[in-house]
Amino acid sequence: MAKYTQDASFSTKAIHDGNDPDQWKCRAVVPLISLSTTFKQSAPGVHSGFEYARSGNPTRNCLETCLASLEQAKHALVFSSGLGANTAICHLLESGDHIVAMDDLYGGTNRYFQKVLSPSYGVGVTFVDMSADDKSAFIAALKPSTKMVWIETPTNPTLKLVDIEAIAKIAHEKNPEMIVCVDNTFASPYFQKPLLLGADLVVHSLTKYINGHSDVVMGAAMTNNDQMHEKLRFLQNAIGIVPSPFDCYLVCRSVRTLALRMKEHEKSATIVAEFLSKHPLIEKVLYPGLPSHPQHELAKKQMLGNSGMIGAYLKGGKLEAEKFLQSLKLFTLAESLGGFESLVESPSLMTHLSVPEDMRRELGISDSFIRFSVGLEDVNDLLKDIDEALKKACS
Ligand SMILES: *Cc1c(COP(=O)(O)O)cnc(C)c1O
Repeated sequence: MAKYTQDASFSTKAIHDGNDPDQWKCRAVVPLISLSTTFKQSAPGVHSGFEYARSGNPTRNCLETCLASLEQAKHALVFSSGLGANTAICHLLESGDHIVAMDDLYGGTNRYFQKVLSPSYGVGVTFVDMSADDKSAFIAALKPSTKMVWIETPTNPTLKLVDIEAIAKIAHEKNPEMIVCVDNTFASPYFQKPLLLGADLVVHSLTKYINGHSDVVMGAAMTNNDQMHEKLRFLQNAIGIVPSPFDCYLVCRSVRTLALRMKEHEKSATIVAEFLSKHPLIEKVLYPGLPSHPQHELAKKQMLGNSGMIGAYLKGGKLEAEKFLQSLKLFTLAESLGGFESLVESPSLMTHLSVPEDMRRELGISDSFIRFSVGLEDVNDLLKDIDEALKKACS
């Protein structure tokens, strides 16, 4: 993959990598949307690098080149969704293999592990709190059949952090072949680069920050390992979990402003998190960028900043939480996150409903727990919205 801005900074790479006008005959400054499903061959099996659009597409190539560059990875592949990327990655394993996974995970990943991968493919999953300082539970969970360690950090929804470097070191000492995979969706490559911390694979839901405009569902996997990349490329085509050329074009467009957006998400989220912390109707705030977060020091060590995701416990119960969510006017009550618009939701009633109830209780996903995705509106308008809704809910 041509990376002619290898030494450039993040925002420069986001704008130029995969976007060389000279790759097109017409020298277009913006990637072309190639809708063709098939490509002319000059002799049987002799082609220009493209045969059939499931196995490769010029617009998709532009996006994959750019995403690899942003994650400082050799390779990137895109998939029809974040969960599609997870599926491809788990197909690297065989029946009888075992995964040790972080206990607090995106609800859909948890559901895929427990309801699909384990029962249908015979890959066992053990959930462990890897964020604990004491790593003995993690070490105890590693079996001879453990082939993959699945990290999510910061976690969705309770914003726990996992020390990627420490976990990767333990995992690779146990078995140098162990695949350490990090779901980097919440941080985005702008704030965290797991491959530089010892991870083997990074997975993203591009649906969230990287696309950031709430109009594309897509996933990606990045690695420096040539062999793993080739296997994943085979699976991308063989399983058929590919995104459309138009969606690839949209993400190419969105990624140009990722750096700008992340800076603004962080600025506003810090102000909102501080405001919530001082609010009399709020019990507790979870934001890794605040010194009150139990892992604030780790956040400073392994991340370059924090995104727009905040967790908060309301004073009260389900009734107050529901009233609060319905009283907000600027924050839209909806699943998903990472877009330009502010969103809010109740993980226990919405995104994490598929997580078994006892597991939810253990993780602290109670009915008074609210997840905010702070968007790019004027932050003073957001503060006013939260304040008024809290007063209505708790009066
Ligand atoms: C949304 C999300 C996913 C799943 O991605 P989709 O694009 O919705 O399939 C995976 N991990 C995390 C952390 C997410 O937030």
